[in-house]
Order: sequence, then structure tokens, then C-alpha cells
Amino acid sequence: MAPAQNPIISRHVAVIGAGAAGLVTARELRREGHTVVVFDREKHVGGLWIYSPKAESDPLGLDPTRPIVHSSVYESLRTNLPRECMGFRDFPFVPRGDDVSRDPRRYPSHKEVLAYLRDFAREFNIEEMIRFETEVVRVEPVNEKWRVRSKNSGGFSDDEIFDNVVVCSGHYTEPNVARVPGVKSWPGKQIHSHNYRVPGPFKNEVVVVIGNFASGADISRDIAKVAKEVHIASRSSDPAMYEKLSVPTNNLWTHSEIETACEDGSIVFKNGKVVYADTIVYCTGYKYYFPFLETNGYMSIDEDNRVEPLYKHVFPPALAPGLSFVGLPAMGIQFVMFEIQSKWVAAVLSGRVTLPSQEKMMEDLIASYATLEALGVPKRHTHRLGKIQCKYLNWIAEECGCELVEPWRGQQVDRGYERLVSNPEHYRDEWDDDDLIEEAYEDFARKKL
Ligand code: FAD
Repeated sequence: MAPAQNPIISRHVAVIGAGAAGLVTARELRREGHTVVVFDREKHVGGLWIYSPKAESDPLGLDPTRPIVHSSVYESLRTNLPRECMGFRDFPFVPRGDDVSRDPRRYPSHKEVLAYLRDFAREFNIEEMIRFETEVVRVEPVNEKWRVRSKNSGGFSDDEIFDNVVVCSGHYTEPNVARVPGVKSWPGKQIHSHNYRVPGPFKNEVVVVIGNFASGADISRDIAKVAKEVHIASRSSDPAMYEKLSVPTNNLWTHSEIETACEDGSIVFKNGKVVYADTIVYCTGYKYYFPFLETNGYMSIDEDNRVEPLYKHVFPPALAPGLSFVGLPAMGIQFVMFEIQSKWVAAVLSGRVTLPSQEKMMEDLIASYATLEALGVPKRHTHRLGKIQCKYLNWIAEECGCELVEPWRGQQVDRGYERLVSNPEHYRDEWDDDDLIEEAYEDFARKKL
């Protein structure tokens, strides 16, 4: 999208976070003519993709006073989406240069994603807008503006006034720990995937992994390389489910949910099987958490992890457009979603695009909750876009006059997830959608001209 020629209003905007969402938001805001300060508590850009071998001191992440390690990336992590559909639209995530440290695979390692985000920040001179090692500790509305309090590595606190705040602080740091009946008296070790890094500590153990989606599928297989046995418990399966998997190792079983954990160290599954386990690994997702945000009661996060009220997952009606969120929905073409949402925010702030009235936004939101309920979507999945993601993104794209999502992107995501479910061992290295790869590269070439 070309920079706006005549932005109607230029705002002074604070962006919280310099991960993928914050980087593209800063770029889009500046393109639209706003002045931008990005705050990040890390030393570098990249957010979640900055791998740290260090995990948090509390393995379940339950202690609210624990020092935070932001990243949830484990050492062996490769992307769970093909790289072509992941990248920003005018800066494709394609293998770059001859540097041997780069990873040209279609599903590259986490290091390659970080390198890509650093390239992106360099290409668009984004670092000049960022205050590194500066944590935002409070954001609150004052007289139609926003007061942002931050503290830097030297402990110095500062209050500043901004016209608008865009929250891009990520949502994969605050563990959601599944409730297991009886676990309080169960004597083994427990850890959430947020604090999982390498399989070494699980050598010769019997491990129960709860959750079998992207992280659960990866981590269980990573641990199985060194453990005695790994048992995966998953909510979606039928109660009698029990299967021994022969690949990649011969020590992996899938079960239905856990019925109970017992004082004698046993875990009883709903399928009637019993194992004596050393460790439970919770791959049960994350909670939205914005400890810095004071909205005077206009927003909340309910016990089902719904952030409300939030029009189209971006604007809280009573506080819009002063406050907005980029990157809240999960499971989809994340970087492209950040790009399109941030174009919308930038255009709304400049006045080029108008939001509906507060009442209309609330009406829309209530109708969307009713639709989810009628479709039987659990409340905890409010911010999961899944199959409707392209429709959602195209609605925003039309709203702010930017290019619609290329159909091949959605198709790559769908085919990729089908492979992940049917072939979790090899889905990153075996595929049948060369036609979609070709379409993507033709598209990249066309956009370069
Ligand atoms: P983050 O990358 O988490 O960045 C948030 C930033 O905000 C951080 O730098 C943090 O330091 C900063 N911050 C937070 N609070 C404050 C504060 N108070 N003050 C200052 N700074 C603050 N997506 C894909 O597209 N493909 C994948 O293959 C993929 N794999 C994933 C694997 C795992 C294990 C996980 C957990 C997620 C994965 N995702 C993947 C989703 C991924 O999270 C997003 O793609 C994306 O990188 C998130 O970017 P973000 O900018 O929203 O958040």
C-alpha cells in the first residue's frame, strides 16, 4: 500500500511490543503519517522468536511475581505454517542470500523466523522508532489521551502522554494450565510448554503430555527421543481412545483425557489405562494477559479467556479508537493478519476510515457472540479464527481499502493443518501442494515488478 498522500490527522502513537505485530504496526502507522514510539522490554526485535535457553523459575508459571521469560520457543521448533503464507505481503518470507546460517526449508527453524523479522525491521528502518529494554508498566486513559508509564533497564520510570495506544504485546507467555483432578496430591513434576526447551531433562522418564495440537505434537515427539515412555492425553478424542504410535520412536501412546491423578504417582485416563508417570507436560495453551492496562472497567478478560468487548478483535467500543489491539486472534495467517489489522488501525487514527458508533460496534459484537453460540463454538475459542479467517481479514481489507488476502494463502494454511493432523511426524517435509507454492512465487514476482 502506498503511503497516504494527505493524512487527515497525524497522531502520536505508542505501540507496545516489537514482535511481528508491533513491527508491522509501527511501519503502517508511520506510512499513514503518524509519529510512533515502540516500547519493548527485550534488547532486540522479534518477540516470541527470540529463543532463550533459560526458562522461568516457576515451571507452571502460576506465580504472578515470577520474573518473566517472554518466549515460549523450544530449541527444536520449526514453523507450523509454510513460509510462503507466513510472510508480510510486500516482504515475502523466502530464502534470502547465501548465508549458511540461514535455513532455506519450507518450514524453517525458529532462528530463520527471527532472522526474517530482523531483515524486515532493517528494510523499513523500524528500529529507529523502538525503545528497547523498556517495559510498559501502566497504560490508562486521561482526558481523551493515554498516559503510558514505562521503566527502563536502569529502573528509571517515565510518564508520557500519547494520543493513542496500540497493544501488540503477544499472548503466548501466560500459561493456561489445564485442571487435572487429583493433581494437588500427585507427587510428580509438572511443567507448562512455555517453559519447555530441550528433551534432556526427561531422559528415561515416563512423561504424560496433555494436548496434541501444534506444540503438544512437537514436544511429545521431542521428548520421546530420550524418555522411556510418552503418553499423550487429548481432549478432542473419544473416551475409549487408545493407540500406540510406532513412529517416530516406539514409545509413544495417545489416550483420551485424564480421569484423575493419584497420590501413588499413577495417572488414570478416561480409557481406563493407568501409567505411573514422572512428569506432566501441559501443552494446554495460553491466557490473554495485559497487566499494564487500566481501562476503568471498560474491558475485561473472562474466565473463558474472552477479551471483551472488542469490536472485530481490535477496538474496544467505549475506548476506540484511543486504544486498539493488533494480533489478538489465534490460529491463522498471523503476520498477514497483523499487517491488515494495523493498516485498519492506522487508517482509523488518521480519520481516513471511520468506525461505526459505539452502539453499533456493541450491537455487532453481541450478534457475533450469538452466532458463535448458535454454531456451538466454545466461548474459550472466541478469538480463534480458523476457517473464517480469510473472510474476517477481507472484511477489514475492504474497510481500509487494501488488497484482499490472496486465496493461495488460506489454501496453504488449510492444507498445512490437514497434514499436521494426519501426519504430525512428517508434515513439514512432505507435502502435496506444489501448485500452491508455484502460485505464491508467481505472486511474489508479480508484486516485485
Ligand atoms: P510476540 O512475538 O510475543 O511479541 C510481543 C512483544 O511484546 C515481545 O517482544 C515482548 O517483549 C513485548 N512486550 C510484552 N509486554 C510488554 C510490556 N509490558 N512492555 C514492553 N514490551 C512488552 N505463528 C506463525 O505464523 N507461524 C508459526 O510457525 C508459529 N509458531 C508458533 C509456535 C509457538 C510455540 C507459539 C507460542 C506461537 C507460534 N506462532 C506461529 C504464533 C506467533 O506467536 C505469532 O506468529 C507471532 O510471532 C506473535 O507475534 P506478536 O508480535 O503478536 O507477539
